[in-house]
Amino acid sequence: MNHSNIYKPLKCIVEDVIEESPTIKTVVLIPEKEFTFQAGQFISFTVPGIGEAPFTPSSSPFVSDKLEVTVMRTGLVTDAIHKLKKGDVVGIRGPYGKPYPLDKFAKKEVLLVGGGVGLAPIRALFYALIGTVEQYKRIVFCCGAKTPADYIYKNLILNEWLKMSEKFPISFRITVDSKDDNWKFGEGLVTKTLDHLDVDVSNSVAIVCGPPVMMKFVTLKLLDIGYKDSAIYLSMERKMYCAVGHCRHCLIGPYFVCKDGPVFTYDSIKNEPGVWA
Ligand SMILES: Cc1cc2nc3c(=O)[nH]c(=O)nc-3n(C[C@H](O)[C@H](O)[C@H](O)COP(=O)(O)OP(=O)(O)OC[C@H]3O[C@@H](n4cnc5c(N)ncnc54)[C@H](O)[C@@H]3O)c2cc1C
Repeated sequence: MNHSNIYKPLKCIVEDVIEESPTIKTVVLIPEKEFTFQAGQFISFTVPGIGEAPFTPSSSPFVSDKLEVTVMRTGLVTDAIHKLKKGDVVGIRGPYGKPYPLDKFAKKEVLLVGGGVGLAPIRALFYALIGTVEQYKRIVFCCGAKTPADYIYKNLILNEWLKMSEKFPISFRITVDSKDDNWKFGEGLVTKTLDHLDVDVSNSVAIVCGPPVMMKFVTLKLLDIGYKDSAIYLSMERKMYCAVGHCRHCLIGPYFVCKDGPVFTYDSIKNEPGVWA
């Protein structure tokens, strides 16, 4: 009989804590042994003496000796994560859940739509797509935040990723809800980036991640534009404890977000109650 403890975390040392916005920080972790995941999967992050909570790694799935997690402060555990300092010891367990099915994106135009801290899982996915870029027809990346100050990965996006469109078939549509005098990109909700979309929707998949209200309105607009509900991939979040399909806190209808998700196509969950809760 296997007596290994599935809840035992892997020890990690905090290497850095990066302030992304007034409410969001990225924690850079060095695991005590190699840790691999696929884009879209999540981990359970333990702060000793405080508790644990689920997060999707935001770093490259091709890197196994370092892991980055981007965390919005909302309560007990996230507050403790925001107080971490270089050298602190924390734990992770996982990876859990199903990743984005990259094989199903092959030869298609891949539309990424991320808002706020929802850019975190999309960043890991973007790294995965870039690593296999020749497999996709094109990547269109739509991203939004409330204000320029709330934009996570702003320097990375504006100084590095935008330049990728010179080398790869990638284009960006960047917006904030309300701009300031220095903002040179779009203004308006992230749904506005879907206006006049020059994508062949019949050969495209859309990947959406953000707060529930944003995912709802982006999904409705994608349907309106002509996306099939089976071509819309949503990264779902629910209150979660065990992360391994036991505690039932994360159910959407009959589906466990922790093991059937967290990535679901819209057609698979659209008739379940409280999809946008
Ligand atoms: C698969 C998955 C991946 C996630 N990835 C990220 C990520 O990359 N970055 C990030 O910042 N957050 C992510 N979250 C959300 C994150 O898990 C919650 O913000 C965190 O659990 C809150 O813990 P807390 O102790 O700080 O808050 P609590 O003190 O427990 O609660 C504070 C508030 O947040 C609400 N809340 C708690 N847990 C969740 C949850 N899982 N989803 C939605 N609301 C919740 C509570 O209802 C309450 O209103 C993810 C959640 C899931 C399920």
